[in-house]
Formats: sequence, structure tokens, C-alpha cells
Amino acid sequence: MAALYLDHAAASPPLPEALAAHAAALREAWANPSSLHGAGAAAALAFERARAELAETLGAPGWRAVACATGTEANALGAIGMARAARRRAERAAGGGPARALIGSAEHRCVREAGAVLAREGFAVEEVPVDAVGTVRPETLAALLRPDVALVAVQAANNEIGTLQPIATLAALTRARAPEAAFHCDAVQWAGKRAEAIAALDADAIAVAAHKLGGVRGSALLLLRPGARLPLPFWGGGQEGGLRAGTEDVAGLAAFAAAARARAALLRREPRALHARRAQLWEELKSVAPDLVRLGPPDESDCLGSILAVAVPGARARTLLTALDARGVQVGSGSACHGSATVVSPVLEAIGLAPALRGSVLRFSLRGDETPADLARAAAAFAEARAELAVTPARRG
Ligand code: PLP
Repeated sequence: MAALYLDHAAASPPLPEALAAHAAALREAWANPSSLHGAGAAAALAFERARAELAETLGAPGWRAVACATGTEANALGAIGMARAARRRAERAAGGGPARALIGSAEHRCVREAGAVLAREGFAVEEVPVDAVGTVRPETLAALLRPDVALVAVQAANNEIGTLQPIATLAALTRARAPEAAFHCDAVQWAGKRAEAIAALDADAIAVAAHKLGGVRGSALLLLRPGARLPLPFWGGGQEGGLRAGTEDVAGLAAFAAAARARAALLRREPRALHARRAQLWEELKSVAPDLVRLGPPDESDCLGSILAVAVPGARARTLLTALDARGVQVGSGSACHGSATVVSPVLEAIGLAPALRGSVLRFSLRGDETPADLARAAAAFAEARAELAVTPARRG
């Protein structure tokens, strides 16, 4: 039986539409888009079509879409660039003190690292705490906002526990209380999983990545609200208006556009595709393991439908994950980007999960086309794996 892959938050396999678009672009638009001949023009046209289609499909028509390679890069470009652009005005507001950058405490490591870069540059970087389900509460952010803030960075959806943030509310608060600040939003997990227009998040800069929604890895976008400006970070040939120099990956962007279109069509056809499956998976898991602790908000409407994270009392996530893999079910543990068992996930710390449970968290992440039988199979494999691990030490002893 083929393996059941439930780790789409780490990487989702390229959709057939994306593979077809990728192959067609490699065949027909392989030239350098900067070249002045017909082949170059064809590549440039394909690239610009893909860019425009992506902005439209994701729901940000009229926004500037800067193509880059990874979510990490898009987040760095947005968060660091926006902070640098606002720095002098925020310092003036601080009366000569340092400009402040506020970074959510449950952000992906790449955004927290962008905060570390800003700290080295002399920004006063502060964490915005999350509550026990991973939410940045508006009142928590409001208490930190003053005119000396240059940047607020809060993700749209958490990659480990799936909490959705009230981004539009947080961005509006930021505009009202810290008028010099830019709002950067990491929507790498959110895009392709939600039907709303991405522009409705109402941030100034938004990062998205192809490989989380069925595109081909190596393509990502930073979306910039009309009028948003960034200082140029890259030396090179001046592509992407100087924001991201280097010969463009036409095939990657074409595949990204095709994948985004396919995801949008799925969500139009079946708006509850993800939530319905997440709910069924939770029911199945609970029925075999009533002691499981579900992480994230209790209310479905505050969760990303694609991620279900559970703490498994008494278990070591890595061992359980391997036992599940041996049974043909592939899941994640926390974030794949810091998958070492020795690294305690800062997200689990940020939500204040009991230390004894921190090494026990499994993340099931869905694409939205799993069958009821798939979800039942995942729960059955989980029950078997857990039972086996419970008896193994005794047998060996
Ligand atoms: N942001 C979030 C929320 C993510 O889940 C990830 C990857 O897991 C990233 C950023 C980084 O994206 P990439 O691996 O494409 O650099």
C-alpha cells in the first residue's frame, strides 16, 4: 500500500498542474528574460504572466509581487527591508533613541532570525507574546505600540500548531498607534489553505512560498502593498527592480501560479475541504487515544484547517514518528525546519506547554483531498505505533 503522506506543512508534493506548467515553461520559456531577442521576450512574457496571475489568484491584484526562492528569503526581504525603510522616522519619533521592532514570539525561525539581524543593526527588538493557544491578542500588541516602532512582524498562521492570527486587526492597531511602522506578515502556511483574498490580511508586506501549496520548491513571493517601498538589499543585475537580483526562475513561477490556481479552485469547490478533514482526523485520533492534548485554539474558526498538532502524553515524538513511518504514515513533529529532538520548539515554549509534553508533539498536516479511509488509517497506525512503543521497553527489559 502506498504511504499516506500527512506532512504537507513541511512540503506538499507538486500538483499535476504545477508539473505540467513547469515542464511547459522549461520547454518554451527557458531563455533569460533579460535577453533582447525573441526567446528572451517569450521568457519575460511568461514570467510576467505568472507574476500577474499569482497576484490575482492569491487575492492581491495591484500589489507588487517580488519573486524570490524561499519563504525564508521573502520573510527576510520583507521584515528586514521594511524595518530599515522606516528606521529614521521611528528614531525621530523616539527622540533619538533606537527604533523598535516587534516580532511575534511564535514566529517561524526565519522571522525570529530576521529580528536578530535587526538587533545587530541597532534596533530595539522585542517579542510580542502569544497566549496559551498561540494567538497574539490585540490588547497585547496594543500595549507595545508607540510611534517609535518601525516594524511589526506577525505570521498569518502558525506552522507548528496552526493558530490563525487576527492579522487585519493587528495591522489596523499598528497603523493607529505606530504610524511609522510597517506590518510584515509571514503567510507561508496560510496561502493556498484559505479562501479569503490575501490582501484582506491588510499587511504591508506578505511572504508566500510555492512548496507549501503544491508548487515546485525554489519559488516564493514577497507581496508588497501598493506604495510600499524597500531599500535595495542585493548587488547584481537589477532584476525585480533591484530587490532580488539574479536570473529569474520562469518555470518555478509558472508552476507556482498553476498550483495556486488549483488550490483556489479546490477551496471554491469545497470551502471546508481542510476543516472537515481536520475535524474527522481529530475524532478518529481521540477515539483511539482519549488522553491526547490538541494544541492551538479550541474554536475551528481560529485554526488553519490544514494543521492538527497533538501532544502525546508519555511519548517521544521522534520515536513515534518513526514507528508511524514504518506503518506507512508520514507525519511531522513540530517544525521540520528544527526537527532535532534536542531542540525544544520555541513555539511550544511560547504557548507555555507543560515541559513534559514538549518533546511529544506530532503534527499532522493535510492537503484537503484525503479520504475518510485515509484518516481512519492514520489513527489506526497511530494507535498501533503507540501501543508497540508502550510495550517495547518491557519486552527488551
Ligand atoms: N514561514 C513559515 C510559517 C514556514 O512554515 C516556513 C517553512 O516551513 C517558512 C517560513 C520558511 O520557508 P522556506 O522553507 O521556503 O524558506
